[in-house]
Amino acid sequence: MTNDFTYGMYATLLEAGLDVGFPFLTVREYLSMDAEELPPAFIVLRHDVDRKPANALDFARIEAERGIASTYYVRTVPTVFDPDLVREIESLGHEIGYHYEDMDRADGDVEAAHVSFARHLARLREVATVDTVCMHGNPLTPHDNRDMWRDDDEFDEYGLLGEAYLSMDFEDVAYYSDTGRTWRDGALKVKDHTFGVDGGKRQASTTGDLVDLLRETPDGRFCLLSHPDRWADTPAELVTETAFDTAKNVSKYAMHVVTSRGG
Ligand SMILES: [Zn+2]
Repeated sequence: MTNDFTYGMYATLLEAGLDVGFPFLTVREYLSMDAEELPPAFIVLRHDVDRKPANALDFARIEAERGIASTYYVRTVPTVFDPDLVREIESLGHEIGYHYEDMDRADGDVEAAHVSFARHLARLREVATVDTVCMHGNPLTPHDNRDMWRDDDEFDEYGLLGEAYLSMDFEDVAYYSDTGRTWRDGALKVKDHTFGVDGGKRQASTTGDLVDLLRETPDGRFCLLSHPDRWADTPAELVTETAFDTAKNVSKYAMHVVTSRGG
């Protein structure tokens, strides 16, 4: 499905959401509201900026042109973190969050992970307002970055509203992720599972399936995670990208068999 994860298809997905009349919430907005304040139906758009930050800016523009605000979780590794680009995404009306990987950096030492987390959060806060965070799942390390948290009060201590996996109610909100370049849950989604996801939820493979799902579920509550680096402007570019990911998925699959984490 080489046409499926193109910028054009992403715009089609957004337009379907607008057509149906879904309000779009950032993670900050979602976590700021009490359960009774939330609109009956909504879409939370979440992005992990793992690599190719220029693609994130493309996504930010595609959304802003349609009056939609979303949330970009940005890694602070040198290959991804570009202060000017982060400022530009925020200036388009989007939320910036910290895509943390401090358990990986600290090799599983919780105390050292907090020291690292505080430092990198402060670095990102020099360029943007950061109220929420979200773990980065590196399939090649043995750690789960969420394991640094003992309880919700710890987010308060950092002046944070919460964590995108841990603080959202995924029994209430249907979660779909483009990991593995399909919206379907599966073995490739190592470390990309939430707790309490309804195992019986309706599946979507292609972006077109997800468009249909939005149209058929106008009273739904959705959280859609996408990685802009996995999408391309043209189908030809996507073919190159898919070859890169296929190589990566082979090693991911091997990891899954060995560790069988996060099922
Ligand atoms: Zn990530």
